Amino acid sequence: MTDRPPKLSRRGALRAALATSVSATGVLGAAAPADSRAAAPHGSGGAHRAPRIGALNAQSAVRTLTVGDVRLTYVVDATMELDPVGFLPAVPTGYWREHPEQLTASGRIAASAGGVLVERGRRRLLIDVGLGSNVLAPSLGISHGGALLRTLRALQVSARSIDTVAFTHLHTDHTGLGFLRDDHQVPQPAFPCADYLVADREWEPFWHRQVTVGAPSWDDFMVPLSRVVRRFGDGDEIWPGVTALITPGHSPGHTTYVISATGGRRVLVFGDAFHTPAQITRPDWPSGPDVDVDAVLKARHTLLDRLTAPRTHAFAFHFGDQVFGRVVRDANGARWHPVPARPLLPHPIPPA
Ligand SMILES: [Zn+2]
Repeated sequence: MTDRPPKLSRRGALRAALATSVSATGVLGAAAPADSRAAAPHGSGGAHRAPRIGALNAQSAVRTLTVGDVRLTYVVDATMELDPVGFLPAVPTGYWREHPEQLTASGRIAASAGGVLVERGRRRLLIDVGLGSNVLAPSLGISHGGALLRTLRALQVSARSIDTVAFTHLHTDHTGLGFLRDDHQVPQPAFPCADYLVADREWEPFWHRQVTVGAPSWDDFMVPLSRVVRRFGDGDEIWPGVTALITPGHSPGHTTYVISATGGRRVLVFGDAFHTPAQITRPDWPSGPDVDVDAVLKARHTLLDRLTAPRTHAFAFHFGDQVFGRVVRDANGARWHPVPARPLLPHPIPPA
């Protein structure tokens, strides 16, 4: 890991944007957040009534799962509906005809975006930061983002309490709210007390503009990130008990985070190595934006071996309202098995 860079100063609008009431206990100690309605102006009428396992064809609620001494919470930022042909051209159209229950009313794939908050003891790691004001290319689907900081506030988690932000990869739906412009229109870290971490193999090609697919804003993300980024390699421990596993292919240095918890448990945050549960069963079906299909297939092979190990959970950013689960393998192959996860808040943005 590289040396820690100096912290940037913050100014007016940024400070105001981040002004939150800091809870002594935050998510770990919170019951139902008092201002959950504020987080859901178009809410579905009480997250506590949501089932503990949601639907694959729905946008994700803000859900939390405790594994050993680690708590994970999906801090939802965005609604996305992916075009099954545009985003997943390798999946035969007949598959969707046979599984209409996996598609939304508009015939698309429900895929929320956001960050996963990892809490252990008093420390807070945020993996990815949602779509923000970015939008999907029309050929890939429709999207509406920007709720990440609002969702955090509703959870009574202050942006300043996040000590580390780590990216699975640098695509726009994972980097949207990394930086906010201050009064002088200068992008500043949205999480001013956090280290910003990216795999060296991801940073280098994006920084040298060798990647165009899904690349984030140069001025509003890459340049400000260049001032604070800390880079890591395959196998590095990037946070206590969290190890980077480079799973390239979707992007050059796409990273899975392997979170170790008490009792020999593990949680794999596998980023966009898989976009829909069908790819767990058919890992030979790549996604349209993958830059290196052969590498994706190899990475998935590695991941499926690890995901089917005992005491292993996984988090999947884009698996509808079934983002927490396990991978089970039987005579029919591997499949995604969603696990119950407590809903804290409804999805913050209604589907378009
Ligand atoms: Zn994504």
